Amino acid sequence: MAINMVEPLYEVSRNATRCINCRICEKECSNLVHSYDENLKAMISDETKCVNCHRCVVMCPTHALKIVKSDNCFRENANWTQDSIMTIYNQAQTGGVLLSSMGNPEPFPVYWDKILINASQVTNPSIDPLREPMETKTFLGAKVPDIKRDENGDIVNNLPPQIELSTPIMFSAMSYGSISYNAHSALAQAATKLGTLYNTGEGGLHKDFYKYGANTIVQIASGRFGVSKNFIEAGAAIEIKMGQGAKPGIGGHLPGTKVVEDVSKTRMIPEGSDAISPAPHHDIYSIEDLRQLVYSLKEASNYKKPVIVKIAAVHNVAVIASGVARSGADIIAIDGFRGGTGAAPTRIRDNVGIPIELALAAVDKRLRDEGIRDKVSIIVGGSIRNSSDIIKAIALGADACYIATSALIAMGCHMCRSCHLGRCNWGIATQRPDLTKRLDADEASQKLVNLVEAWTHEIKEMMGGMGINSIEALRGNRLMLRGIGLTEKELEILGIMHAGE
Ligand code: SF4
Ligand code: SF4
Repeated sequence: MAINMVEPLYEVSRNATRCINCRICEKECSNLVHSYDENLKAMISDETKCVNCHRCVVMCPTHALKIVKSDNCFRENANWTQDSIMTIYNQAQTGGVLLSSMGNPEPFPVYWDKILINASQVTNPSIDPLREPMETKTFLGAKVPDIKRDENGDIVNNLPPQIELSTPIMFSAMSYGSISYNAHSALAQAATKLGTLYNTGEGGLHKDFYKYGANTIVQIASGRFGVSKNFIEAGAAIEIKMGQGAKPGIGGHLPGTKVVEDVSKTRMIPEGSDAISPAPHHDIYSIEDLRQLVYSLKEASNYKKPVIVKIAAVHNVAVIASGVARSGADIIAIDGFRGGTGAAPTRIRDNVGIPIELALAAVDKRLRDEGIRDKVSIIVGGSIRNSSDIIKAIALGADACYIATSALIAMGCHMCRSCHLGRCNWGIATQRPDLTKRLDADEASQKLVNLVEAWTHEIKEMMGGMGINSIEALRGNRLMLRGIGLTEKELEILGIMHAGE
């Protein structure tokens, strides 16, 4: 008999005196962890199936459940950790590539947590955002170097197309297919209410969401799923996805189990087929090729929509960004290696790419040094967790930030990192009708609105504390930042001084 060497990572701890055998946990768990044993007249658990999504814990009416990390220990050492041993057992058994979802969980430095923000004292007084105007409106797109006036002295608007945001927070690309219809609907509704944008990801645009076009970024990735003339015309901006922080250098993969009828129509692929987008765009092998696609899209949209080029943060990101700025793109989106995903090979997610903080600082500096910073706006994403991360990103040179994992958490995601299985118990990363209905789109959109409004208020408070009254004045203002516990090299790359200096 073959022995299954893969052991449970979690234990389901059920308080027998509290459990009333209502079987709610059984109904709520799509991973089939809980069941009722007629002989024992009690609930039992198959812990090998538990992904620690907390659905049962939250739904149990008597608070009888607790999920704890298994403390079964291996005879590990600093080289052969429990994780490295268990993944070998897993791969020896399955012969497969390790798959995972969400962002890089490894303990690499999070530079946001090693950067401190300034505040005014005595001179350059702080500003009270409750009593004085504070501007969080942000315009994204190429800027012109000089102001032109007509013969009457009036300013001539010679600006290329711009995106106007009420707050520098946008929802990053998450495709319909990787997330549910209701999750997509929540993002679209929230972006519209907030005066910001959400992003279709590479899955096309469901016919029901065309009405949110003014608040939509339509994305074109290497697979060209769901791309049509109507799709290109539908959004306020067009994003070419060259790379993604969670899996730089490879394409996307939506398992066939998630390609249900509606997803297949939206992506324009057969139902049930795996949607695998190629690693490169097969028509882009140089900046000149990228330029052709940028201008094809501008042409197709009558030069009325900004074109964004999204790249992953990798070693030579500053040089790549310089090329992208020269390709005619209006906006560069940079995705750091802690950025989430619906599915990625674990080894790539955890080892490829660089932190967004270093990538952003390097790109902003390079574009300034080359005198082309105003040719493009910069959006950054990849694990933006709170409003202070956004303040720090803008002071390092970003114009706006993309959030995705934070948005999912606001909707109810419990970070079980199992999106790739398609059985999300919270109705987010799934297409199973019994699960998708668990997410109420209206309620989820209100939570997103609450989150972004709360963060925007905090941004105003922190800017006011610095004596700064607009995002524009904060952008690239690295004097407002100090590093703590960083090496000289790290400070040099971030372009900031150490605390105390
Ligand atoms: S939901 Fe709670 S009370 Fe109901 S069977 Fe499960 S553990 Fe027991
Ligand atoms: S979206 Fe769902 S499956 Fe993905 S991490 Fe969150 S709770 Fe888990």
